[in-house]
Amino acid sequence: MEAQRIKMTPALYVVATPLGNLGDITLRALEVLRGADLIACEDTRHTRRLLEHYDIRATLFAVHEHNEAAAAEKLLAFLSEGKCVALVSDAGTPGVSDPGARAVAALSSAGYPVIPLPGPNAAIAALSASGINDPHFLFYGFLPTRPAARRLAIERVKSVAAALVFYEAPHRIAETLADLAELLEPQRELVIARELTKLFEQIARMPLAEGPAWLAADDNRRRGEFVLIISAPPPGEDLPPEALSTLKLLLSELPLKQAVRLAAKISGAPRNALYQRALAWQDEQL
Ligand code: SAM
Repeated sequence: MEAQRIKMTPALYVVATPLGNLGDITLRALEVLRGADLIACEDTRHTRRLLEHYDIRATLFAVHEHNEAAAAEKLLAFLSEGKCVALVSDAGTPGVSDPGARAVAALSSAGYPVIPLPGPNAAIAALSASGINDPHFLFYGFLPTRPAARRLAIERVKSVAAALVFYEAPHRIAETLADLAELLEPQRELVIARELTKLFEQIARMPLAEGPAWLAADDNRRRGEFVLIISAPPPGEDLPPEALSTLKLLLSELPLKQAVRLAAKISGAPRNALYQRALAWQDEQL
């Protein structure tokens, strides 16, 4: 017997769906998927499997990278008729390294309510089981696919005082991990989270320098979908004590950026490392 449909406010409902394990769906997500007049999804066959599992019959409409602008127009027309639309992606949270943001922007700027239904997300799932204890993280998503652009992107985030979170596909995991291990500090901690919530789920922790060898040691380790987490850079670890004492003195008199610039000039220590150290001290005082 089909479960009863709830009465819903006309809106765009942004619904997170499972990463793999079909049990990872909220009761509210099921209610909304059941009650929506239309479900906008990336791949209708993929979403159909999820809906069949929960015995939900629905009208599906494909919204993907290549038709998102045109699809937003159709969704606008639906909402203007007072209908409820649910938006899902193939896995996890729509709009997070997935289509959805353009449709959300178009509908919300046209004045329609957009209601998020939180749930699975690969980055958050990986972080929650990573054991990495940094207070901040930077969610980067996918690095560029071209090697030069990828290396530049890694250089740009190298000094950010936060754990770094990347998404990667199996056919690029080896080259991406090789670049990360070469360009970032080797002692940073690496967590490789693979196939989360699925049969071959694996979460491995190691110093970053050991990542490429770990991956190469077994073909199975390069299969599936990946989240890579790298702990924050060691704050100012290599700075000489004179540079640190100069920085401390200047920080007691000057704004942070000015103090860092002068400390770098006086001590010859790298400005970025001094900057990270100053930020870490500032955080400790908060
Ligand atoms: N919107 C999704 C989310 O909320 O996490 C992400 C979609 S993005 C197109 C797909 C990428 O997410 C994969 O290449 C992988 O990096 C990561 N991912 C998705 N499912 C995963 C899983 N079960 N285990 C590990 N990583 C996963």
